[in-house]
Amino acid sequence: MKSLKLFLSLFLISSLITISAQNEVTINSIQVSNSVYMLVGQGGNIGVSVGDDGVFVIDDQFAQLTPKILESIKKLSDKPIQFVVNTHYHGDHTGGNANMEKAGAKIIAHDNVYKRLAEGKATEGLPVITFNDKLSIYINGEQVLIFHVDNAHTDGDAMLYFTKSNVLHAGDTYFQKRYPYIDVNSGGSIDGYINAVKMALMVIDEDTKIIPGHGDLSNKTEYASFLEMLNILRANVQAEIDKGKSENDIVNNPAITKQYDDLNYSWNFINSEKIRSAIYKSLIKN
Ligand SMILES: [Zn+2]
Repeated sequence: MKSLKLFLSLFLISSLITISAQNEVTINSIQVSNSVYMLVGQGGNIGVSVGDDGVFVIDDQFAQLTPKILESIKKLSDKPIQFVVNTHYHGDHTGGNANMEKAGAKIIAHDNVYKRLAEGKATEGLPVITFNDKLSIYINGEQVLIFHVDNAHTDGDAMLYFTKSNVLHAGDTYFQKRYPYIDVNSGGSIDGYINAVKMALMVIDEDTKIIPGHGDLSNKTEYASFLEMLNILRANVQAEIDKGKSENDIVNNPAITKQYDDLNYSWNFINSEKIRSAIYKSLIKN
């Protein structure tokens, strides 16, 4: 009886430890250039530029992570946060907006990000500067190009290119080595996605470091293979549609994505069924 109790309490303690370990998100800071860093925690990768003018941040993950994110940023610079740019409206990229605003940052995003956050009843942390096409910020000794790409991951995507540091933050137009989320219900599309990557590839060069929306720090060669994957899957799905196949047929036909399933592009959030369904939905909308 005594040993059973001991066993049960040990079991309880060990499961509690497991639970708290899962809840414990750490923010890892990776130096990308002299002045640009990538912060990895939970949700979309964060970009940070530091220098004489202050701190400039790209995306802010979830509200509950703000204290840890601010702590990581403090280790890079003691200057105030000037701006936060949202690459799009999804909660794992904008969840910390209200906290960042309280910390003194001005939020910048595409017009449709403002619309979608406001429609979502957000009253705090809304962008105070919005743009339709492109915008430049001159900060920490360089021009940062912010450009919108049409109907890619959503209808409000922005990419950012640090012209001196030679760093691209691709937002969610890039899921490194995994199937992307094409949010067809929020204006995303496979063709817009392909065009977005093509446009970014024209801006960057072989030495550019790329911060993807999700995944590891990357480069032009990897981003180009990601584009190839999108083109191949689009062609495969279109070929099935041309044969008169239904969404159900396509979702249940693993041959369409096999080449990339074998390379482990399928992951828990976007598995191979989901990517086949998203591409189908996007193509029949055209
Ligand atoms: Zn997203």
